Amino acid sequence: MNAVTEDLSVNKLTPTRLGLAHDFPILARPVHGRRLVYLDNGATTQKPEAVIEAERRFYRESNANIHRGVHWLSQHATDLYEASRVTVQRFINAAHADEVVFTRGTTEAINLVAQSWGRNTLRAGDEILLTTLEHHSNIVPWQLLCEQTGAVIKVVPISDAGELDLDAFDALLSERTRLVAITHVSNALGTINPVAMLTAKAHAVGATVLVDGAQAVAHHKVDVQALGCDFYAFSGHKLYGPTGIGVLWGRAGLLAAMPPWQGGGDMIRTVSFEGSTYADAPQRFEAGTPNIAGSVALAAAIDYVSAIGIERIAAHEHALLAHATAALAAIPGVRLIGTAANKAGILSFMVERIHPHDLGTILDSEGVAIRAGHHCAMPLMTRFKIPGTARASLGLYNDEADIAALVAAIHKAQDLFGTRSTAP
Ligand code: PLP
Repeated sequence: MNAVTEDLSVNKLTPTRLGLAHDFPILARPVHGRRLVYLDNGATTQKPEAVIEAERRFYRESNANIHRGVHWLSQHATDLYEASRVTVQRFINAAHADEVVFTRGTTEAINLVAQSWGRNTLRAGDEILLTTLEHHSNIVPWQLLCEQTGAVIKVVPISDAGELDLDAFDALLSERTRLVAITHVSNALGTINPVAMLTAKAHAVGATVLVDGAQAVAHHKVDVQALGCDFYAFSGHKLYGPTGIGVLWGRAGLLAAMPPWQGGGDMIRTVSFEGSTYADAPQRFEAGTPNIAGSVALAAAIDYVSAIGIERIAAHEHALLAHATAALAAIPGVRLIGTAANKAGILSFMVERIHPHDLGTILDSEGVAIRAGHHCAMPLMTRFKIPGTARASLGLYNDEADIAALVAAIHKAQDLFGTRSTAP
């Protein structure tokens, strides 16, 4: 049954079971002859039937190129594409649909800001404030920009629990800070940053704020106006939508002043060999044929999540995180990395004397899919003096049975390595 039409009244739910796994066809397929226990949602989420069907239906019934054709089908596809933009606008409570730029994902959204806003705005000696928690996608684009402009990067350190050092943030923030680029939720530790508070401080010194929302949008309510930030980036595939589609939200005034980044069809007003003029935002930043089907399927994913209720998903994952944290902490030899007070459903951990990659392989043989490695956050691993971690990341379809399978698979790995404690 499709969750969108299901009766999901709170009374029918236990805190750690939404019971929606059957909406996700892939979760029914076995792996290595075992039930698939998918705990790699930080990397990408699985897709519900509603999303798969929306993309299929687009190609079967609505496919045409957009913004160009005079024929009915082109107009129809354009309407669907623009309606998807409105769905995104409502989901993140943007003031206008024109503030929503479709991109390939978070990475492209951040690069767009770096190369359009950043290259046009930053000068030698200007400072970009990042944090130790950042994903490489929110580090490398700024390093490239620094090479081009002479701007410099400053980094806010974190505590052993994985929380931002707010005193250091205050000390590093100054009139030289032109940009604060922070992750909303750490993909490696799950730490939820106090983005609204940090944004207010950044604005007080005149800095612009970009928030990397890749790990946030699927897990709790995001309201860009309430956050107060200037740019917000996220990826569709981490929100139960397809790969290859994402969003850059930017304030209308900022987008209006930003030059194009990529040139091509669809982003122009006029073209001659003497020079070209450009379309207004968001089209100015959507050169070439975009991922039209992806935008439609992303809107279907947002509809799916909204029908369940993002607050309900947040409550479910919060309860499951508490349960999973206690379950892992109870295993002798397991060390949790990242114990912030305010955390999303991500559990990074090390198992004594078992390399994370070996652990990941053994868990996989038990049907348990987790991620092992540096999680595209090498500076963060360096901070903890570790090569990487094992990471279980939760999605709306996970439940206590998945955590029990994870715990059993860790025990299996410890048995294989002869490291399982026999102590009570
Ligand atoms: N930022 C964070 C916090 C992430 O977790 C990820 C992906 O793992 C990204 C950025 C990059 O997202 P994408 O690869 O979809 O562009």
